[in-house]
Amino acid sequence: MSDARGDIDDERDRQDEKWGEQNHVPLRWYAILGEEFGEVGKAINEHDLRQCREELVQVAAVAIAFVESLDRNELNPVSDTKAVEGDW
Ligand SMILES: [Mg+2]
Repeated sequence: MSDARGDIDDERDRQDEKWGEQNHVPLRWYAILGEEFGEVGKAINEHDLRQCREELVQVAAVAIAFVESLDRNELNPVSDTKAVEGDW
């Protein structure tokens, strides 16, 4: 039986345990999300639906983390050492 939302919540918890609270500029979040999305395509191309599902869970969890970051920072840009100044 599917527990997609539970798996996404578990992935969010895992991300927080691994990296702590993340407050990236939007362009950095976009890059992270894009990387995960690309991994979905790779799994499809390799006919690996188990991996595809796992990557989709990661896409959803990153999207939620992105929303949480925007909400936490009240839609204001935040500093990010990996981003070019003004590049958000
Ligand atoms: Mg991934």
